[in-house]
Amino acid sequence: MPKFIFDELTGTPTILATNRAKRADQTGATGKKSEASKDAKPQVCFFCRGNESLTPEAVYQDADDWNVRVFPNKFPLAESHEIVVHSPDHEKDIPDFDHEQNVKIVRAFLNRTNYYTTQGKEVMVFNNRGGKAGASILHPHSQIVALPGFPGIIEMEKNKALRYMNEKNSCYWCDAVKDGLMETNLVYESKHFALLVPEASRWSYEMILIPKNHRPNFEYMDEVEINDFARIMKAALYAYDVLFGRPDRNFWIHNQRYEPYHWHVGFIAHIKVMGGLELGAGIWVSDKATPSDAAKTLSVHVKECYEKETLSLA
Ligand SMILES: [Zn+2]
Ligand SMILES: [Zn+2]
Repeated sequence: MPKFIFDELTGTPTILATNRAKRADQTGATGKKSEASKDAKPQVCFFCRGNESLTPEAVYQDADDWNVRVFPNKFPLAESHEIVVHSPDHEKDIPDFDHEQNVKIVRAFLNRTNYYTTQGKEVMVFNNRGGKAGASILHPHSQIVALPGFPGIIEMEKNKALRYMNEKNSCYWCDAVKDGLMETNLVYESKHFALLVPEASRWSYEMILIPKNHRPNFEYMDEVEINDFARIMKAALYAYDVLFGRPDRNFWIHNQRYEPYHWHVGFIAHIKVMGGLELGAGIWVSDKATPSDAAKTLSVHVKECYEKETLSLA
């Protein structure tokens, strides 16, 4: 584990993880949603407070009476695959929480990332909400996978960043923040972060969050940056909830242990489904808004949430 299979022609990686076939499915993500009506007893949520004995033992929690809890995935994709339960609340998620709770979630991400990077592994934190986004459990949670390295998009980014560094003696992402994207595709700029719509958005309203401080990974954020990160992450997700009525969505944190790389976060709302062009040709169809129009629309809601959050902390 994990067993990667690479397409001979395109290099596209697949993880073979048939051990996951038996996992519970509350969202229809695997195409065979377990129907509560068929069960004699109501479904028990493994992630709710009080049901800790139904999951593997915690590897991290913020307190004995936890607010955030991390444990190994019962159906792992890889040797190191963990679940980060966002809170004991079965319904509420990052856009609904107060700032303190979101900081606790960020600290859980940081703690587990640090645990694996000190073992020489690369780490990806990702979040799936809803069946269309790949979640099989309803209770809000994120996941952490650690591997010797991530083939696919992260590998391509690493290679491109190295070539860019060799040619221009600067960082691709630092330049993206300084460049024209800030004029046309900026959603929101805080003291430490720029939230942008990528020019080549795969689906409309995709966002990328780029920290202004150049670092390959997010492990060495200081307290001020951690707080800013929690605030802008909430605002980005809040904007999707308001605009698309709590859509299925993903976000992911791209980290690398070494230069030249610049950590960043991707956000995508499932306002479409993968079609034949996406799957057959690897060509995405962004047909809801231009990147600059999407940025303008998103910015209203991101600003509202970010500023309200800042006010409540003042
Ligand atoms: Zn629950
Ligand atoms: Zn940089």
